[in-house]
Amino acid sequence: MKFYKDHYDVIVIGGALAGLSAALMLADKGKDVLVLERHNLPGGIATSFVRGGIEIEASLHEMMSIGSKDHRLKVGKFFDDMGVDVDWLKVPEAYHASLPGLEVTLHPGLETFAKEVDSAVPGTYEKVLKVLNLCHTVFDSVNELSIHPMSKPQMLLKHEAFVKTAGYSTEEVLKTFDLPQKALDLLAPYWIYVGTGFKELPFTIYSVLMADYIGYGSYIPRKFSHEMSLKMAERATEMGVQIEYKQHVDKILVKDGKAYGVRTRRGDEIYADYVISSAYPNSVYSHMIEPASEVPAGAIKMVNGRRLSLTAFSVILILDKTAEELNIHDYSVFRGDSMDTDMLYKDLAGLGPYRYLTCICHNLANPDATPKGTCSYSITTLPQVDGWKTVSADEYDEVKHRVARQMIDDMSAYLGVNLLDHVLECVIETPMTVSHYTGMWNGCIYGYAHTMEDHIVARLQTAEAEHFIDHLEFSGAHQISGDGMGPQVTNGRKAAKNVLDTMAKEAK
Ligand SMILES: Cc1cc2nc3c(=O)[nH]c(=O)nc-3n(C[C@H](O)[C@H](O)[C@H](O)COP(=O)(O)OP(=O)(O)OC[C@H]3O[C@@H](n4cnc5c(N)ncnc54)[C@H](O)[C@@H]3O)c2cc1C
Repeated sequence: MKFYKDHYDVIVIGGALAGLSAALMLADKGKDVLVLERHNLPGGIATSFVRGGIEIEASLHEMMSIGSKDHRLKVGKFFDDMGVDVDWLKVPEAYHASLPGLEVTLHPGLETFAKEVDSAVPGTYEKVLKVLNLCHTVFDSVNELSIHPMSKPQMLLKHEAFVKTAGYSTEEVLKTFDLPQKALDLLAPYWIYVGTGFKELPFTIYSVLMADYIGYGSYIPRKFSHEMSLKMAERATEMGVQIEYKQHVDKILVKDGKAYGVRTRRGDEIYADYVISSAYPNSVYSHMIEPASEVPAGAIKMVNGRRLSLTAFSVILILDKTAEELNIHDYSVFRGDSMDTDMLYKDLAGLGPYRYLTCICHNLANPDATPKGTCSYSITTLPQVDGWKTVSADEYDEVKHRVARQMIDDMSAYLGVNLLDHVLECVIETPMTVSHYTGMWNGCIYGYAHTMEDHIVARLQTAEAEHFIDHLEFSGAHQISGDGMGPQVTNGRKAAKNVLDTMAKEAK
């Protein structure tokens, strides 16, 4: 029996969240799909690993767009609709903000959040609720418009708040509420999840972030992010998708401007009507298209013109005491010596010391995350990719340990407990780890930076012009919905929808 069929409807490169979402949606519509994954297991960054007999989450802090069982949001609903049965646990709070002059724990729910900000900064309830309600209105518009595009006049009538705020930065819109700085600081910590300072961050993106996380809370799978990946892969296989591991795709085969298959590192040439790539457009257009003469000049201009966003540096500790014993009381802490997001963003260009950290203690959302009497604590910063490109092989070990040490010391000072006295296991993930493990361009996990010149509305408008090779689609953080695990499901679905729409159009 041959390993591969003579032909598939679609080949998906990469068996992580984006690729598997695309595969699930296509299989649901009866398409014959092959997923090729370079690793020996699915999930990409959505994975876990074992050290000292303990399973450790590799990345996930919290996921957006899941929603409760009775009120699923789009990603949670997609999993339900596809029969991917994930055991979701609700994260107890939005976050604890540890900022100059502020130690405040805030919970999801627009009114609850506004009340809690008001307790810390009295007299701000009405205005903060107004900000959150505006975010919610814009979020509803984005959700509707992403499914039902409409003309500008129609949009103005039905989605006034969206249209009115779309051309403004987060800083510009928030300024109009005339809030005290401390209240603004409490509305800012999630900025790092989209990786752009407020001067440059489109208010539309901020709105989606705040409305989703604050409005509905966040979730994690009980068996770590790998529960999602494994169950997606399992379900896709049940639905007839062929998934092959340890198959690195080297080339995407193109003729007369149209993709028609791939070649793997092992040398297999496999044919399909469509190819969906999780690999960045930067990788695809710089070395994966065969022949290279099929790469349009516009594609190279596009990738050179876009700014890559952030990568990740994480220290994950398994500690020999419970969270309570170590003075850890919040699942999620954002800690910074300032909440000037633009200045913090600039600071992420270097190699530390990093001034803004995001930390989680898994056990506070998932008590069984580690064996009894222990807990897991993860300290993360999200540097810009360029700084880490300057680290030579000789310097790597020193830089890695220096940065990890600074982050551990900083959180030890915050907790009043020397974390190093309690370490059972310590794992350091650097931008190089991410790059090596996922093959993502420069270890970038956030795709292209959201800016006022290059944001979701602009990208929607240029999407067609940036479709450089027929029958080749992309799915991953580099696509329209941007970074994060939830958005990868949406990006994967979008790639599948583009394929299905083209199939339908060409069948006419
Ligand atoms: C430390 C850390 C913390 C994070 N925390 C959060 C969080 O709290 N919440 C959140 O929502 N997001 C978080 N993220 C981001 C999130 O994990 C990613 O945005 C998301 O998982 C990316 O999914 P993906 O499907 O686009 O790509 P990836 O997970 O990068 O996977 C790409 C896949 O494609 C495969 N592949 C690539 N090239 C090829 C090839 N040529 N041939 C075959 N296979 C190939 C790779 O092996 C991989 O499996 C975090 C990331 C990190 C690193």
